[in-house]
Amino acid sequence: MNAQPTPTLGVSQCLLGEPVRYDGGHRREAFLVERLAGHVAWVPVCPEAVLGIPREPMHLVRENGVLALRGNASGTDCSEPVHWFVQQCVTTLANAGLDGYVLKARSPSCGLQVQVANETNPSAGLFAGELVEALPDLPLIEEDALAAHNTREAFLERVFAHARVRALFATPWTPADLVRFHTREKMLLLSHDRAGYDQLGRFVAQAATQPQEDVARRYRRRFMGVLAKPASVGQHVNVLQHVAGHFRDRLDPSRLTALHEAIDACRQGEHLVRDLYAQIRAMARELDIRWVGEQSILTPFPQELLTEELHD
Ligand code: SF4
Repeated sequence: MNAQPTPTLGVSQCLLGEPVRYDGGHRREAFLVERLAGHVAWVPVCPEAVLGIPREPMHLVRENGVLALRGNASGTDCSEPVHWFVQQCVTTLANAGLDGYVLKARSPSCGLQVQVANETNPSAGLFAGELVEALPDLPLIEEDALAAHNTREAFLERVFAHARVRALFATPWTPADLVRFHTREKMLLLSHDRAGYDQLGRFVAQAATQPQEDVARRYRRRFMGVLAKPASVGQHVNVLQHVAGHFRDRLDPSRLTALHEAIDACRQGEHLVRDLYAQIRAMARELDIRWVGEQSILTPFPQELLTEELHD
């Protein structure tokens, strides 16, 4: 198994249990504090703390086409100091090497889909909007979405993939290193987007002729773009069949049949894809099939983060 680099995650500070909310309270998210904290480095930010704690609760309004924060009771415009803080902070965050961000849902500053007064469609909060604009490839999630295992695990997969590609380009690298990286990510990429994987492969093949900085920037962007497409059970089944081909000459017939039956069961929804990847990881180790064992899809993030449903 390949060692995972430690991702750096931005987080709305109140979600870590820190008393920064308008009323001096917090919104501690147990999964973040009790499970994820041991696997990531946090960069906690509260964009509204610049207004002091406690402070008046606020809402979003649009004035002359621009979003503003106004106090719920007083109507006071609190935008300027928050805007100022957000500008400084987002520039710092863009240089901080973030691999993802966990945002507080419905906050007029941190939320991604926030009610704006007298408008039908939600908008990103003041801070979240700037963050998305400055770092468009960054995996983002609101804490509400962490409750469901599929959205939580999809987020973790992208965060740890972002950390791996960032680690690759953070140290001196050669085109051969990029080929090795791309090879280890093959099955993960294929589970999301076959055409995207093929395009990325052609890009890697020409990497030696391009300026390194350009290759790093474009590869990272395309790599995260492929992973942003949702993976389906059908795509996982294709990947599993491909992987099973590497066991054809190494497993006895009964085990090979059992493997193909398990893949069929995944197709029918009777067997969890993630459980089969775990079995394949163990078989690759047992039979020393290195190419399979090194595929990132077998361990897209630390196994301790594979949890059952959190809130039900
Ligand atoms: S501004 Fe963001 S981090 Fe600060 S209390 Fe509100 S939601 Fe939490």
